Amino acid sequence: MGDTYRMLETNNALLLAGDAILYFAALAALFRIRNRIGLGGFFCALGVMHFLETYLASYFYVALPLGIVASPGSTVLFTGKLMLLLLLYIREDAKVVRQPIYGLLFGNVLLFALAFVMRHHTLVPLTAGRGADFGFLNEIGGLMVWGTAILFFDCILIILLYERSRAWFGDNLLPRLLVSGAVVLTLDQVAFFIGLTTLTGAGLPVLIGGWVAKMGAVVIYSVLVAVYLKAFERPLGLRHAPRIWDVFDTLTYRERYEDLLGRTGCDALTGVLDRHSLESYGRRAVESAAAAGRPLALLLIDIDHFKAFNDRFGHAAGDVMLKRIAAEIMAAVRLSDFTYRFGGEEFVVIADGYNGDDAIAVGERIRRAIASAPSADPAGKVTASIGVATCAGDASGYDKLFEIADKRLYEAKALGRNRVIGARPPNGENPVRLVKA
Ligand code: GH3
Ligand code: MG
Ligand code: MG
Repeated sequence: MGDTYRMLETNNALLLAGDAILYFAALAALFRIRNRIGLGGFFCALGVMHFLETYLASYFYVALPLGIVASPGSTVLFTGKLMLLLLLYIREDAKVVRQPIYGLLFGNVLLFALAFVMRHHTLVPLTAGRGADFGFLNEIGGLMVWGTAILFFDCILIILLYERSRAWFGDNLLPRLLVSGAVVLTLDQVAFFIGLTTLTGAGLPVLIGGWVAKMGAVVIYSVLVAVYLKAFERPLGLRHAPRIWDVFDTLTYRERYEDLLGRTGCDALTGVLDRHSLESYGRRAVESAAAAGRPLALLLIDIDHFKAFNDRFGHAAGDVMLKRIAAEIMAAVRLSDFTYRFGGEEFVVIADGYNGDDAIAVGERIRRAIASAPSADPAGKVTASIGVATCAGDASGYDKLFEIADKRLYEAKALGRNRVIGARPPNGENPVRLVKA
């Protein structure tokens, strides 16, 4: 009898591990094809699972070895969701992570409100003895709202910890995932239990058992996320490490994120400086170079036939390409050169200290970097046309400099694209300076 029971417990543990692998594999596959179908598919699937997760966490408990009692709702689905949201952050950014969190929170409050209104209907049973389960409706709405409210804070915390953990483990992904997951899910377990015990009267063994099971799930998911990132997508490079107190200062994602953007003036998609920054810093850089008599180059970069790229590969792939192009530009210029996203697929680089041939050489370096940017599909390569204007060679004011660079960019387009055009050489032999592929 004891042996049979132990076997059933082991069986339950194996089933939970199987559930976790199935859950992760399916959602990671949906995440992987986000460039083709968009992130909406991944978000919706995650949202649907939320209902099952809450139902399981309030009713469905299984016996595991060592006398542990746990629910696949918290163990497999909740832990999995949090680790997938961390994966979402690692590959995308905080702005993207807040979308499903807001959606879940809003959806659950709405569910709660609708359930409240619907309780006032007068019902007829579908068949004899098949009445509505109001106990379930009352309880699950509250638990779902409570669960997502905690998820909101869990997400902020896991992202902060993940960023902090770079200082402890460097780029070693697995320990970073393990530690961030373990700490946050420990706190989460306490918070969720408070709601659960209030609504259902669940006892202490559920708290302890749930915690042990969540730690087991953290190990499984950390390995799965690390394997996924290694096999399919490399994590993006270093990003801004948020300060832990920012979260308590601002409390919400939106405020924290907008504050971050406001302070850095970064373009949300590509991470380079935005147009607003160009108008302030860029203009000031030109004015101070002109005043100090220092040369400076302004390069206006426009991707060739980018509309056709979008039409062929989709807007999401276009966005990925824009990020890649921005990274190529940043890698091609010096740290002291400033890269701005001026418009959709237009970038501006302001490079202090360059004039004449040097400025064109920078443009040429950028042009080559963009043309050789990696692309999964050989037909997905893009090129760029670049107009270059220098201070004081061409003009000494920002507006005039920009106008000249813009004119040259148009000349580059008219002459067949994928080229850099700068000032006319002094001897006037060539009507335009042309550096071709
Ligand atoms: P060319 O510059 O060589 O004349 O051709 P083009 O097709 O690039 O023409 P244009 O500059 O007029 O069009 C820019 C296109 O860039 C329009 C739009 O489809 C695309 N685009 C602009 N912003 C974004 C963005 O944020 N993401 C994506 N995916 N595409 C964008
Ligand atoms: Mg354009
Ligand atoms: Mg273009």
